[in-house]
Amino acid sequence: MAFEGLAERLQGTLDKIRGKGKVTEADVKEMMREVRLALLEADVNFKVVKQFVNRVKERAVGQEVMKSLTPGQQVIKVVNDELKELMGGEQSKINVADKPPTVVMMVGLQGAGKTTTTAKLANHLRKDHNRKPLLVGADVYRPAAIDQLETLGKQLDMPVFSLGTEANPVDIAKQAMEEAKANHNDYVIIDTAGRLHVDEELMEELENIKAVTEPEEVLLVVDAMTGQDAVNVADSFNNQLDLSGVVMTKLDGDTRGGAAISIKAVTDTPIKFAGMGEKIDALEPFHPDRMASRILGMGDVLSLIEKAQTDVDEEKAKELERKMRSNDMTFDDFLEQLSQVKKMGPLDEILGMMPGANKMKGLKNAKVDDKQLAHIEAIIRSMTKEERDNPSVLNGSRKKRIARGSGTSVPEVNRLLKQFNEMKKMMKQMSSMQKGKKKGGGLN
Ligand code: GDP
Repeated sequence: MAFEGLAERLQGTLDKIRGKGKVTEADVKEMMREVRLALLEADVNFKVVKQFVNRVKERAVGQEVMKSLTPGQQVIKVVNDELKELMGGEQSKINVADKPPTVVMMVGLQGAGKTTTTAKLANHLRKDHNRKPLLVGADVYRPAAIDQLETLGKQLDMPVFSLGTEANPVDIAKQAMEEAKANHNDYVIIDTAGRLHVDEELMEELENIKAVTEPEEVLLVVDAMTGQDAVNVADSFNNQLDLSGVVMTKLDGDTRGGAAISIKAVTDTPIKFAGMGEKIDALEPFHPDRMASRILGMGDVLSLIEKAQTDVDEEKAKELERKMRSNDMTFDDFLEQLSQVKKMGPLDEILGMMPGANKMKGLKNAKVDDKQLAHIEAIIRSMTKEERDNPSVLNGSRKKRIARGSGTSVPEVNRLLKQFNEMKKMMKQMSSMQKGKKKGGGLN
């Protein structure tokens, strides 16, 4: 899970100060010493760490915090605000050309995830913004990069323009622009060539492609797991190409988070998207505020809700929401809910977005597997209609009967009842937090 190691350390440190009714300068100093170590260990650039620590200290020992009624929580708010600022503050959306097509040049080193991200971005633009992208295979150097893009294009049922591996990438880009105009594609996403290292020849080729296509976006794809190397790569690309944004891939496997936290501060280029897995839909718009709260264990309820909204059957979700609000969710709804949650992806990823979920150690490796689901289903099917609608009638003898009928045990039935109640509680909380609004300008 993204940032797991850093999150655990920072949360441990902040917990010590959270409930304090009085916070002294010495408390802040001690806390920041630990925060500093945690950030350095997470491979955050040392200059960035220094600046961050100074800023938090300055604000945290200020009047408004020290004199407030909840100084402990105020200090944490300062850490949260500054972490958000460090990652760019507001969300940076993808640019849209005044006159279509919008051109997006994907650049980066080999293996960073450029080709995969090209397809993911196209999928995102179509799925969430109703756009009609043309994919362009201009990586003529990496063996099979064009084939890979074509396969992804087929999988998405989306057009891919290429001229094979013998053609000149600048010609490919030029002709692709004509193709997009002829076919009314409103986005052109060019998968350019990568190299193993930054070199002059590569940069020259990219500059030439940039000159002929005049892109609205030059997005650098970097692998989060490479830590400060990713930041250095971003710095070189930015100096040559004047990047408009970064896509940080493999954040799903990055427990440290150093690159994601430092890259904006070092290169002044915002992260626009985060890759969260190998699947084609594992790309998320990057929200610095949500990421900061995820790292500090405050959860990311907004992303969770958005995920639920795109992955889950809307009609069913609405009906369920109505039931949750009126608090009359039944076990039949619960069963439906479980199958919907299963569609949303790995449970540990979903849990990572929930407030305080990091603390529930037992949940860490929780997986909704088919066997477990089958047990739950069997238990619910062994209930009478009355019991499903109103579980409070379930006494000892009814539970025994259900356990026998479903081939499970009374403790298992009890566990399910408990889960059901907790889910009801949590869903109620979530639906009341659902009022957050999106801001305009650009595409998410
Ligand atoms: P390219 O050389 O930059 O075009 O790299 P590819 O697109 O071929 O990706 C290299 C590898 O990284 C592939 O195995 C991808 O599936 C994997 N990959 C790309 N993005 C992500 C991501 O966000 N998370 C994970 N876990 N793997 C990714």
